[in-house]
Amino acid sequence: MNNNNNMNNTNNNEINKNNSIDLFDWGLTDSFHELYKSNHSDLHLGRVIFESKNLYKIVAEEGELIGEIKGLINLHATGREDFPAVGDWVVMDRGSNKTGNAIIMDILERKSMIKRRVAGNRLDTQIIASNVDYIFICIALNGDFNLRRLERYLSIVWDSMATPVVILTKADLCDDVDEKISEVESIALGVDIHATSAINDIGTEIINSYLGSGKTGTFIGSSGVGKSTLINNLIGHQHLETNGLRNDDKGRHTTTHRELLSLPGGGVVIDTPGMRAIQVLDIDESINHAFEDVEALMLQCKFSDCNHHTEPGCAIKRALKTGELSESRYANYLQLKKETEYLRRKMDKKAAGEYSQHFVKQTISRRKAKKFFKNAK
Ligand code: GDP
Ligand code: ZN
Repeated sequence: MNNNNNMNNTNNNEINKNNSIDLFDWGLTDSFHELYKSNHSDLHLGRVIFESKNLYKIVAEEGELIGEIKGLINLHATGREDFPAVGDWVVMDRGSNKTGNAIIMDILERKSMIKRRVAGNRLDTQIIASNVDYIFICIALNGDFNLRRLERYLSIVWDSMATPVVILTKADLCDDVDEKISEVESIALGVDIHATSAINDIGTEIINSYLGSGKTGTFIGSSGVGKSTLINNLIGHQHLETNGLRNDDKGRHTTTHRELLSLPGGGVVIDTPGMRAIQVLDIDESINHAFEDVEALMLQCKFSDCNHHTEPGCAIKRALKTGELSESRYANYLQLKKETEYLRRKMDKKAAGEYSQHFVKQTISRRKAKKFFKNAK
């Protein structure tokens, strides 16, 4: 199903016509409300819950609306940062008869932004999510535990102006939780650290305690550490397919596309493909790490730009011949590289605004990579 067509085909743009929505359930705070009241009270306030090509799904008091960009923002935009992102508070003109798409007139000043640099015509900044209060950095206490990776995640969070909270997942699979917590403490001074276990249902309440009314959280961390499991537990039902704990609730994807989810306790969780894709860069690094031997061989090739096909003096070909490097290991390496390259290109394409949204949802590579690492052990 193509999300974008789905949005375009929505003739009646008022999805929940009769539901009056309390925006405070969607993370509205007094300060955003004030900002709106004092500058834009003639317009409609809403929060972006989904983005696809230049259309936005927005939750507003009168229900969910489709918003588009016209005029002002286009005119003044100097880069991707000037366009709405999931989490943004926007003000909209709905015209006198309130039919057709709402026109997004302005974005209320963001209090935090999770960004990534993207290669386009020039280096541009893509906003992955905005107005996030807490970023839960998830690191699993089994094989995933890696302080260098945590440092990278922390730097993303510090850049965003959100507050990091370290979540050490899968405590049930670890014998020395306290020791791991002190290791984390040593590099994450002053940061809250919690160990969780989905198996023993430990952690949901702790995370919930951060996400009271007006608070917005999001999750980062490698594939398979348990982010979907935590999010599902927070919202109290299966929103996301986890890699293992599936249920047969066929209705789970029939809700309208939302990447910003309102929690029963009043807070909000943002879960976008972009947030998930932060880990792609991480997977790429893990590949290099897991295949240090292959990378080391490549450094020994006679030509620095060796393609390892027909070039003379190729260390890879030599190692394959002698058996020092197995054909299957090398094939796996190439496959994973190809997949992460593909994902990366897709991400950059999206950033250039040319790409429809659903690829990371499929997360084929994520699964494959995970499966592969399992098999490689
Ligand atoms: P994501 O890729 O980060 O969203 O990870 P998932 O939520 O899909 O979880 C990946 C796998 O780890 C699934 O098989 C989960 O059932 C499992 N998992 C998640 N949390 C825990 C935990 O606390 N303990 C254990 N033992 N397994 C967990
Ligand atoms: Zn070579």
